[in-house]
Amino acid sequence: MDRGLDAYGGQDGSRVAAARALRARILFRVGRADDAMAELDGLRPLLTRYNDAPAYVSAALAVGGRNRVAEEWLTEATQSVLAERDGPEPASADDAGLLFFLLQQRHRVRHALGRSHDAHDNLADRLETRLANANARAAAELVDDLLFWPQGEFEQLLGQWPALSEAYGEDWDAHRARLERELNRLARAGRSDLSLLIGSVGGLTRFAGTDGDPADPQTRAGYAGQLRGQITWPPERNAACWCGSGSKYKKCCLPRGR
Ligand SMILES: [Zn+2]
Ligand SMILES: [Zn+2]
Repeated sequence: MDRGLDAYGGQDGSRVAAARALRARILFRVGRADDAMAELDGLRPLLTRYNDAPAYVSAALAVGGRNRVAEEWLTEATQSVLAERDGPEPASADDAGLLFFLLQQRHRVRHALGRSHDAHDNLADRLETRLANANARAAAELVDDLLFWPQGEFEQLLGQWPALSEAYGEDWDAHRARLERELNRLARAGRSDLSLLIGSVGGLTRFAGTDGDPADPQTRAGYAGQLRGQITWPPERNAACWCGSGSKYKKCCLPRGR
């Protein structure tokens, strides 16, 4: 392997390698396939080192019409990573780490070549499905958590479905306090662009339809997921509170969240 790359640490090394893969694509495009392949040969050992190397190396090989080479390299790298890894099948894409990226690219390249699934492709599919499900669950939980019921709507909602106090708070103050705390937690976790969805009993009932149950968690998450009316959070300390009480934020929901 090219010794020059060893001089760079993790992130930098990967950036340099990505730039070299880009150069290889250009060399392919101008008809210098041998030079392009020499460049990519030097990057081959990185397939088992950097998470994004499988993507840029196989993309460059695809530009050169070399999906078969990509398949061979990715297969070899996948097998060597699997050989070093003992224990059960990875439970998630996160758990698989670099292996997930190798499996995913290999799966993609083999689809492009019209290959039928082998055991590695089946594992790639399982991990991709689990990742998609986990993302969908996280998104559904997030929108349901940030559903705000203005005072009149809140009272009507709990009047009709008292059990929903568990999901939204036992009274309107508790409801606002919960949302404020949840928003603070998300902000501390590094999320920006936070906003609240505004629920209405009429909207929820229409969304549930005649057969649906508005109190069902999945129905409510589905309803929240298609809402567009939003309140940006947080307001300025001296601005009107997001809850619509008419008080300043600093005297209303800001302290409620503590
Ligand atoms: Zn597949
Ligand atoms: Zn408020």
